[in-house]
Amino acid sequence: MITTPNTLKTPTAQRFLPRRFQVYNERQLDQIAALRQVDAAARFDMQVVANVLPFRVNQYVIDELIDWQAVPDDPIYQLTFPQRGMLEAEAFSRMADLLRGQPSARDIRQLADTLRAELNPHPAGQQTLNVPRLDGNELPGVQHKYAETVLFFPSQGQVCHSYCTFCFRWAQFVGDKTLRFASAEAGDLTRYLRAHPEVTDVLITGGDPLVMKASNLKTYLEALLAPGLEHVRTIRIGTKALTYWPYRFVTDSDADELLRLFERVAESGRQLALMTHINHWRELEPAIVRRAVANLRDTGAVLRAQAPLLAHINDDAEVWARLWTDEVNLGIYPYYMFVERDTGARRYFEVPLARAWEIYRGAVSRVSGLARTARGPSMSAGPGKVEVQGVTRIHGEDVFVLRFIQGRNPDWVQQPFFARFDPHATWLDQLEPALGEAAFFYEPEYRAMLAGA
Ligand SMILES: *Cc1c(COP(=O)(O)O)cnc(C)c1O
Ligand code: SF4
Repeated sequence: MITTPNTLKTPTAQRFLPRRFQVYNERQLDQIAALRQVDAAARFDMQVVANVLPFRVNQYVIDELIDWQAVPDDPIYQLTFPQRGMLEAEAFSRMADLLRGQPSARDIRQLADTLRAELNPHPAGQQTLNVPRLDGNELPGVQHKYAETVLFFPSQGQVCHSYCTFCFRWAQFVGDKTLRFASAEAGDLTRYLRAHPEVTDVLITGGDPLVMKASNLKTYLEALLAPGLEHVRTIRIGTKALTYWPYRFVTDSDADELLRLFERVAESGRQLALMTHINHWRELEPAIVRRAVANLRDTGAVLRAQAPLLAHINDDAEVWARLWTDEVNLGIYPYYMFVERDTGARRYFEVPLARAWEIYRGAVSRVSGLARTARGPSMSAGPGKVEVQGVTRIHGEDVFVLRFIQGRNPDWVQQPFFARFDPHATWLDQLEPALGEAAFFYEPEYRAMLAGA
């Protein structure tokens, strides 16, 4: 049983003072006072990694979420501060050697670009297969993979209040414009939606769209409420602001304007769904977060939570059980447990699928039914979202039982299929069909889709 201390009561009486948003990037590591307690070698390692993978952290995360007594094992420190193992040894030493000389900014950028290109910057066919067309032209900043849901990447929403070291969208943050897929145009999005009555959900994502000023976000949301788009029932916003910068919903100068905007969506009869990203229950502890949740729920918005399972951060059934329980106590619905994607620092964070399933099972079996709503562990792979449903033995063969939660073809969804058990496999492309099959059932069709793109 998980026993959660009753610290999750909403602090209605407590007043919160505004806080200035102060943020550091890879060139400002030396200015972070808390890092002085970390030894010089670890700080150099950090510099090396931060020249390849994105780095950004704000003072709230440093002061309120990281337990500096527990560094380097502290999960939020691992979530936000670069660690040596996040680069492959060879890539690490190439950048370290360069930095020990007197490199020009150009030398650093060139090597960084080379090393980044080796890290599978755009997994799962994002740039080739998912970009929709309107009147023959590609629509940058829009992805349409599953029939009901369109993803929109507004150009001002392509940063975050801090960056996660594991981020699967890391390539968007390192300044290489060719790797970006953002759009400024609410008009393109709405024209596309008018032509696609099958779309019921629009997911505004990034980066973090809630780094945007309320007045900018308003342009996008109001466009979605216009006549002719009645088929769009749910507007989802993917965000980590709830735990990286909860002041966004409490004391920021446009916090009220933002909350009123969410209210207007609810009043239009649509659902505003905040898809919050929460990796560890510790992120929910500060009183300001609970106030932020209360303010958001008061607007009529629905809060859901999703996060990947990550070594060094949350690869523990107890941590997930507590996370889901605390979410439910706050009125947040657990939605997805993801498998770390095959990009960026994945080697450092990946957890074998067999272990991921054990952690999921261990967590689910410890919590109330209300906290069992997260599906997973789920891989967002090229053909779709594939969930590991279990490990079993069929006719003497150990197998993974898999299913599509979402598929490029909706017919693939919910059909059980089987892969040979492999205790080390960490991603779909490492799995082999079981029970004498030559290919997974969806593969011929998926290959035809790839050939057609
Ligand atoms: C996960 C995902 C969605 C949303 O799927 P739901 O199961 O409806 O949450 C939409 N588009 C892409 C590309 C996704 O990966
Ligand atoms: S908040 Fe989301 S998009 Fe931003 S760095 Fe973290 S995982 Fe990536």
